[in-house]
Amino acid sequence: MTAPLRALLVEDSATDAKLVVEELQRTGRSVEFQRIESPDAMRAALETRTWDVVISDWSMPKFGAPAALAILKETGLDLPFVIVSGSVGEEAAVEAMRSGAHDYVLKDRLARLLPAIERELREVEVRRARSNSERALRASETRLRRLVEAGIVGTVVADGFGRILEANGAFLAMIGYASEDVDVGRLDWHTITAPEWHHVEISIGEQLETHGFASPCETELVRKDRSKVPALVAIARLDGSESISLTLDLSERRRLEEQVRQAQKMEAVGRLAGGVAHDFNNVLSVIISYAELIERDLTPDEPLRADIGEISKAALRATDLTRQLLAFSRQQVLEAKVVDLNQSISGMARMLHRLLGADIELTILPASGLWNVKVDPGQVGQVVMNLAVNARDAMPEGGKLTIETSNVEVDSDYAHVHHDVAPGSYVMLAVTDTGVGIDKEMQARIFEPFFTTKEKGTGLGLATVFGIVKQSGGHIWVYSEPSRGTTFKVYLPRVSGAAEVRASEPPPPEDRRGSETILLVEDDDQVRALARDILRRAGYVVLEAPNGGEALLICEQHGAKIDLLVTDVILPRMSGRQLAERLASLRPEMKVLFMSGYTDDTVLHHGVLDSGVAYLQKPLTPTSLRRKVREVLRSGDGS
Ligand code: ADP
Ligand code: MG
Repeated sequence: MTAPLRALLVEDSATDAKLVVEELQRTGRSVEFQRIESPDAMRAALETRTWDVVISDWSMPKFGAPAALAILKETGLDLPFVIVSGSVGEEAAVEAMRSGAHDYVLKDRLARLLPAIERELREVEVRRARSNSERALRASETRLRRLVEAGIVGTVVADGFGRILEANGAFLAMIGYASEDVDVGRLDWHTITAPEWHHVEISIGEQLETHGFASPCETELVRKDRSKVPALVAIARLDGSESISLTLDLSERRRLEEQVRQAQKMEAVGRLAGGVAHDFNNVLSVIISYAELIERDLTPDEPLRADIGEISKAALRATDLTRQLLAFSRQQVLEAKVVDLNQSISGMARMLHRLLGADIELTILPASGLWNVKVDPGQVGQVVMNLAVNARDAMPEGGKLTIETSNVEVDSDYAHVHHDVAPGSYVMLAVTDTGVGIDKEMQARIFEPFFTTKEKGTGLGLATVFGIVKQSGGHIWVYSEPSRGTTFKVYLPRVSGAAEVRASEPPPPEDRRGSETILLVEDDDQVRALARDILRRAGYVVLEAPNGGEALLICEQHGAKIDLLVTDVILPRMSGRQLAERLASLRPEMKVLFMSGYTDDTVLHHGVLDSGVAYLQKPLTPTSLRRKVREVLRSGDGS
């Protein structure tokens, strides 16, 4: 069953039209037709219905084949246009054919009409198929061209010897050459492949030979300036010996991988350092405290005093080191407040001037309307100090130091290239010097504890900065070029809320003797003995336990009041916090003092002290322990 032939007849005579239709139907084909005899009617018919063919009389009173043909052309439709006429001069017929009519049939030869139409319909079919595939080809070319021109992948066409015949802008940018440099065949794959990757080049050649393509593989390209670019290259053979390749620049990806590796390394070193510092604080508690206790018992003219003094001094230095290690490993206790960084910095200006000396010009550029951040004010001071000291050391001949603040919105683009930064609002603190600078290799190591290039350096300055910034939920980046100077940028998350005015420190409680009962829980035997000695010498009654279980037992059995629980935070099995919670119901009047060399989330939320929790930082000293105990006992009861 063939579909009906839809014919539009341009004909003024109904009889002639009937003749034509009958002729078309002669072979049994069904025909749908419409007869029109004016240009407007023709336009309307073409617009409203779909036609297979236009059959037109040559001339009519007000219309004719040439005009009808012109209308058909206007519409852009590709339909066979066949002229049927009783009489037409040869010349006119040729003219009509030239302007696009497809055939010409005389009225007395109508038998030719159907074959002519069928032939034309087949041709239209072929033309349409061709134009469809041309359109598809054009579309696919556009898509490919878009990829090539977008500048995201490098494309190269090379000959059988690997000589570059054509390269797009992205590829040229990747290898740092201008298009003149690669004028047909002047540059080849071998030259721009790093020597240690020539084996990859050979394997690509082999794959092309056997499969006609080489799967994406990693290599390193050599730029015009001899620097190297990690890249991913996939190649396919074209007709003949030419090949086309796609190349992706992997530098960015490598940089992110390196950042992740770096972060993991810092994490591991941090954990190690924190563990060491924790144990060290217990040892230091014992050394410092006994030195202090001995010193108290010595008469003022006792010659041993100086020796004891040396022990104390050394122990204090060690305390300082452990403090820095804890800062680095983000395990020191932060007392975070909402702070205006501009105020913190301007408060340090005098001290910084003194620190930097006359040869270094200090400029402070505070941003107006700076957002607030939540940090430990003392720690921020430490950050600025350490960065400034390093800057000073980097400018032995003098130079400029600029401290700048600004509000920064980190968008997802930035967050994308810095792997652990979440998009959001940050306050940025930038410290820039004009000193010796830091090369790329060193930049990867400067935040490590003990990494130093200085004869008398500790290598803890930046490690401390790093730890403080991270523990405050921030980020730090270094930008530097050898001999050009260095910028450290610290990003701290914005907080809402007004800056808190720093409450002036309460006066230290007087060091008076006590008589209250204290339950002391500490698993380190030496530290426990020490704390017991200190407290007993100060007049307190001390009950002691090495762990939470024994402490509970004592609480149950001890008939009289216990005024204060002094407990280490990290204890075997039951933590100090859990112990305090269990005892809270048993002895609600008992106060609690935690001590630790280490932050721990059972007492602190991410190292930040809850208000209302009494806490004593190790290492203990007799003075610090006595003062804190007195302060806690005195709190809330007005004594
Ligand atoms: P230290 O100052 O004790 O060496 P830091 O951790 O503070 O330890 O710094 C580590 C190293 O980083 C320094 O020894 C120095 O090589 C390098 N460094 C830090 N800051 C700068 C700077 N602003 N300019 C040049 N080098 C720096
Ligand atoms: Mg330093």
